[in-house]
Amino acid sequence: MGICVSLALVSCGGDDSDGASTAPNIVFVFADDLGYSDLGVYGNPVIKTPHLDRMAAAGVRFTDFYVGSSVCTPSRASLLTGRYPTRFDLDPRGVFFPDSPSGLSPDEVTIAEILRERGYTTALIGKWHLGHLPEFLPTRQGFDEFYGLPYSNDMNEPQYPGEEVPVRPCNAIVPSCRPGVPLIDGESIVEMPAIQETLTRRYTERAIDFMRRAVADGKPFFLYYPNHFPHVPLYASEEFLGTSAGGLYGDVVEELDWSVGRILAELDALGIEENTLVVFTSDNGPWLLWETDADIPQGGYDSGTASPLRNGKSTTFEGGMRVPLIAKWPRRIPPGRTIVEPAAMVDWLPTLAALAGTAPPPDVRVDGSNIAPLLAGTGPRDVDGIRFLYIRQDTNLPAAYREGKWKLKLAVEGGESVYARFDHGDLLFDLETDPGERNDLAEAMPDRVSNMKRRMEELVQEIDLAPPTSATH
Ligand code: MG
Repeated sequence: MGICVSLALVSCGGDDSDGASTAPNIVFVFADDLGYSDLGVYGNPVIKTPHLDRMAAAGVRFTDFYVGSSVCTPSRASLLTGRYPTRFDLDPRGVFFPDSPSGLSPDEVTIAEILRERGYTTALIGKWHLGHLPEFLPTRQGFDEFYGLPYSNDMNEPQYPGEEVPVRPCNAIVPSCRPGVPLIDGESIVEMPAIQETLTRRYTERAIDFMRRAVADGKPFFLYYPNHFPHVPLYASEEFLGTSAGGLYGDVVEELDWSVGRILAELDALGIEENTLVVFTSDNGPWLLWETDADIPQGGYDSGTASPLRNGKSTTFEGGMRVPLIAKWPRRIPPGRTIVEPAAMVDWLPTLAALAGTAPPPDVRVDGSNIAPLLAGTGPRDVDGIRFLYIRQDTNLPAAYREGKWKLKLAVEGGESVYARFDHGDLLFDLETDPGERNDLAEAMPDRVSNMKRRMEELVQEIDLAPPTSATH
């Protein structure tokens, strides 16, 4: 049996792999701050994403896929380690900055390290954000190659003085104040500041080159492609700038869709499409800058939408934590399905390890479980058995709990973040009938609230996590 804690009835155990000899190639595309409703296949009426829509038709899409945290750094750490961010000593500011003295501990075991042990060649093309100093770079965490940004694409950006929530002037339309973020190849800075208009194109070319080299070498590959868009500031190439009905944000997402389309076409051209697992998802919800919980974005950002889900990035409302996830693998995933069972970013490490014919090291406490049977359509369908902890991005502690269709969100005092400065008491929602979290049932169902609180605390103790954060007990 695997460690089945966060999602108790999703595939508790069982090795779904064919062994390393038929282990799939893996392409994992990770958008940044892309909202739940920003893709055509997830209902966006304006932004055109034909390649991702086709990918979903050829594979599966999840309706209830959760990130490990609602901001970049802890979300990426939980993906790559299969562990809740509560278990890490990350930057107290929530994410790493250009002056951060540390990074994800080199002792943590990453997906790349596990796959490389199984003979994979590994590359990270895009944004790292788990420590920019040499000893923390991807090349020290299992990646043979790294080409991309060490942290967010807005860092070192000039800001207007005196703004608590900065109104940032830069983007493709106002290029005069380009952020000073470096582009790194291996462990060397090759461009400073990075020319962000052409980065998606260059990432795509690099990804294709990496896949061709892996095939020529006869090796399975793991391509981790965390594009730093549509995180602000937004830049698109000449070919896409001004072309989307969704404005500059739409231009950027449509170029990302084009990039995925180029990679899918190359898999076909290389004759490896059949046995390549391609995943597309996002690190957290859209950056809405809602200082209150009114449905009015504050500030000057171009952002996506999680509508009808509530709120966005930096909160433990569904809009911050639930993201699109599409997966395609013709050999093992039947086409055209929508998966309604919840699953989470921490599940990918045990899943990819199993597909490569191995398992996480036994001395590592992994919080996810193998969802390969769920992807293949052979896994459990018991949504009621699901248990999931939502981790707050500022405290890194559990702040909400999902059990089947029910969600308990613990009281907040002082806001969840500088971008969501509003408080609330304990909240209870029926996510099946109310995915937008509009109808709080806590007062009407006090017994359910207290029982869920107790079971949440039991789960936290069971998996040896820190105590949940709450202003009310
Ligand atoms: Mg992000």
